Amino acid sequence: MTRTALVTGGTRGIGAAIARALSDSGHQVVATYQGNDQAATAFTRDTGIATRKWDVADFEACQQGVGEVVEEFGSVDVLVNNAGITRDATLHKMELDDWNAVIATNLNSAFNMTRAVINGMREAGFGRIISIASVNGQKGQMGQANYAAAKAGLIGFTKSVAQENARRGVTANVVAPGYISTEMVASVPENVLEKIIGQIPVNRLGEAEEIGEAVAYLASDGAAFVTGSTLSINGGQYMV
Ligand code: NDP
Repeated sequence: MTRTALVTGGTRGIGAAIARALSDSGHQVVATYQGNDQAATAFTRDTGIATRKWDVADFEACQQGVGEVVEEFGSVDVLVNNAGITRDATLHKMELDDWNAVIATNLNSAFNMTRAVINGMREAGFGRIISIASVNGQKGQMGQANYAAAKAGLIGFTKSVAQENARRGVTANVVAPGYISTEMVASVPENVLEKIIGQIPVNRLGEAEEIGEAVAYLASDGAAFVTGSTLSINGGQYMV
């Protein structure tokens, strides 16, 4: 039986690598995105993976989008809450909009999407919910009070969902990447990036594929006993 995996923000960066890894491990994959049609079209052309467009911060749009995916593909068996943004500023300069946008896209999205799929998973007796947090949600980061709060929130959210659904065959886990070579990191100034790499024992940035492989494992039958956990993939930068 082919399982359907839905990856939010799955058309670029880490999400695209996750979508590819899930496809390679035999899933029917749907990758969502917000607005970059060009990237989505190129992604489908390269991979054959289906894409759908809606804003994960919009509760109604998530209910509708998931409903359409279920109608077309039969179910959502694996949900990867990956879509995320940054709006960095130190707290004493942070605007309310910067706070709200990051909380809405990085944390409310997990509620919006998980709420839309959870009853189907409970009824099916199988489900995998994997949320992409960040090392900065574990250790905090200057200039990222909004982002760190949202990412730390995903960890508490996941532990609660894991407890509520364990007996229904539904697991919930977090993957917390360190610095991964993507467009998000490309916007970090070079001198800052050099300093960051200096703090990573493995002495390099991570690759998106290294996150994809971990998510494919957590989505697998072999990971049925793993729930409520946070898998840190950060080259040893922060050990918890
Ligand atoms: P990218 O900016 O490369 O890609 C983001 C993806 O999310 C795109 O597909 C984008 O769609 C989509 N997206 C953004 N906002 C929304 C929204 N409101 N609704 C639907 N889709 C949306 O991100 P990365 O690959 O760098 O990061 C992926 C995840 O990994 C994020 O949660 C990030 O916080 C986390 N992370 C990243 C790290 C890194 O080093 N890059 C480190 C640790 C964690 P579109 O193309 O339409 O804009």
